[in-house]
Amino acid sequence: MRTVYPLPLPMPNRLRTTLRSIAARLLPSACALCGAAAADGLCGGCEAQFFRRRPTRCARCANLLPHQGGGAVCGACLKAPPAFDATWVAADYVPPVDQLVLALKFGHSLALAPLLARQLHMMLPPSVDLPQMLLPVPLALGRLAERGFNQSLEIARHLSRLLAIPFEPRLAIRTRETATQSLLPLPARRDNVRRAFTLDGAVIGRIRGQHVGLVDDVMTTGETLNELAAVCKRFGAARVTNLVFARALP
Ligand SMILES: [Zn+2]
Ligand SMILES: [Zn+2]
Repeated sequence: MRTVYPLPLPMPNRLRTTLRSIAARLLPSACALCGAAAADGLCGGCEAQFFRRRPTRCARCANLLPHQGGGAVCGACLKAPPAFDATWVAADYVPPVDQLVLALKFGHSLALAPLLARQLHMMLPPSVDLPQMLLPVPLALGRLAERGFNQSLEIARHLSRLLAIPFEPRLAIRTRETATQSLLPLPARRDNVRRAFTLDGAVIGRIRGQHVGLVDDVMTTGETLNELAAVCKRFGAARVTNLVFARALP
């Protein structure tokens, strides 16, 4: 007799229910977090509560710093400077902000991409040293086929419009599939992304001497962005700034 095994659920039920309720709220005039009336996807209350806080962060990696003072750099970045020069984030990757990322990524709520880009844009101070081009962190072809879209590319596309900076969706290439960083222990993350990226040979000259902006949805340890920034620098980028929607707390 043939045994029939049930298909594994793609995600826990609780997460699926949350994503569904967020998706249900994604009416053009409803807040994605609380469902209240909102003209552009987020009500004033949620925006004030979750996005207008400006804690002191490391200028280089955006980790939270205990003390006040702009431009400060954390101990980890002083000890081992990353390949990127600066990081800007819209919020910490904590509930309920994380649900926006999960709904975009796994709930296929593409309507959230402009909202995430807008929050990131609003967090940039007027004095910010803006990059000259935006590169979304690429997905490997397998994962892109599975998901159907790259969430970082969707955020970068909208951010490019808001900042009036050219968008280079095909310049960076992921050369191999890597394990999901958040599922790996910290020491394994650097090895996981090592040599995972390259740049498109046909357009490589475009990066020389440029200030490059790398766009991603979430930054955890920063190893992925560090690896891609190192590749950009190797090909002559003068400066690399990360523009990331949410920063996971260490
Ligand atoms: Zn709300
Ligand atoms: Zn730092």
